[in-house]
Amino acid sequence: MIDTHAHWFSAKVLSEKEFMMASSESWREGEINADVLEMNSWRPFYLLLRNRLKKLLGNNFLEVRNKMIRDDPLNYELFLFKDAKIDAFVIDEGFGEKDVIPIKYKLLFRIETLIDSLLSIPFDKALEIFEETLRKKVKEENYAGFKSIIAYRTGLKVECSKEKAEKDFLDQSKEWYGRRAKGFRDYLFCKTMDIAKDLGVPFQVHTGVGDRDIKLELTRPSYLTELVRKYEGKIVFVHAGFPYHRETAWMSYIFPSVYIDLSQVFPFATTGGIDVLREIMQISPLNKIMYGSDVFGIPEVAWLSAKLFSEGLQVVLDEMEKWEIVENKELVKDMILTKNAEKIYFS
Ligand SMILES: [Zn+2]
Repeated sequence: MIDTHAHWFSAKVLSEKEFMMASSESWREGEINADVLEMNSWRPFYLLLRNRLKKLLGNNFLEVRNKMIRDDPLNYELFLFKDAKIDAFVIDEGFGEKDVIPIKYKLLFRIETLIDSLLSIPFDKALEIFEETLRKKVKEENYAGFKSIIAYRTGLKVECSKEKAEKDFLDQSKEWYGRRAKGFRDYLFCKTMDIAKDLGVPFQVHTGVGDRDIKLELTRPSYLTELVRKYEGKIVFVHAGFPYHRETAWMSYIFPSVYIDLSQVFPFATTGGIDVLREIMQISPLNKIMYGSDVFGIPEVAWLSAKLFSEGLQVVLDEMEKWEIVENKELVKDMILTKNAEKIYFS
C-alpha cells in the first residue's frame, strides 16, 4: 500500500516518556508538565499503539524496539513496513528533519516554506520567484506535487485577488508564524492551483483537524467550494477534512477535482477512523479515496496506521458487499490502498 501523507520520521532509541511524546501532536520541551504527560498517556491512540507493539514485539516492546534500532535502524523500519505492507510514501517535507527513508518515496513541496521568505522582496519579484520555484520543483527535482497548510495560517476562506494580494503584502501586521499577509497567501494558493493544473500534479490542502496550532474554525473544506467547482486539476483534501468529512465526501462526489485522503484520522482517531472511512465510502467515488497516515517523528505511527486502515477497510468492504454495492472487494481494496495513489503521485 501507499502512504500518501507522511512527514519525516526516523527510528531512534527512546525512553518511555520520549516514545510517548514522539507520538503526540507538537509539544515543545518547555510545555511538557505532569498534566500533559498524564493526558498523553491516556490517549486511546497511545494505548492502542502500546498494545499492538506488545503483540508484535512482546511485553517489553520498548526494550526490544530499542535493541533492534541499535542494531540497525533502517532494518527495523523495513521490518515494520513489511509487517504493515507499506510499499511507498508521499512525504510533505515541510515538517520535521530530513532523514533516510528505506523504501520508495516522493516529495511534496510545501508552499508556506517559500512564502515567508518572499515577504521581504518586491511584490512582482516575489510572484515571479514563487512560480519559478514551483515549476522547478516538479520539472527538475521530481516532486510529486504541492502542499498547503494555509489552514494553519489565515484559513480556508481563500480569496483570489491580485489587488488584495498586493495590499496585504505591504501590511505589516503579524501573527505567531510571522507576517499575516492574508491576501498574498490566498493569491499564491490560487496560483498554486493554476501551476499544479498546468503541470498535471496534485495539490494537497490541509483541511480539518491538525496540530496544536490549527485554527479549527477556519478549516472547513466547503470554504473552498467556489475554487474547486470548476477547477480542472486535482486537489486532495488531506485528513478528509475531519470532522467535516461529510462535506469532503460530498464535494468529491460532485466536483471532479476533489480527492480525499484519510491521514491523521488513521491512526489518531483509532476506531473513529473506521466510522469516517465508512461515511466516506458511502458517498465518495471509490477512485478518489486514498490512504495516508500523517506519520511524523517515529515510524511506528506509519506502521500502526497502515494496519488499522487495512482492518477498517476490510470491515467496510464486507458491509458494502452485503449491501450489494461492491462485488469485487479485492479490486476496490487495491484501488484505495495502492492504485489511486499510484495514478496521482507516481505516474
Ligand atoms: Zn500532515
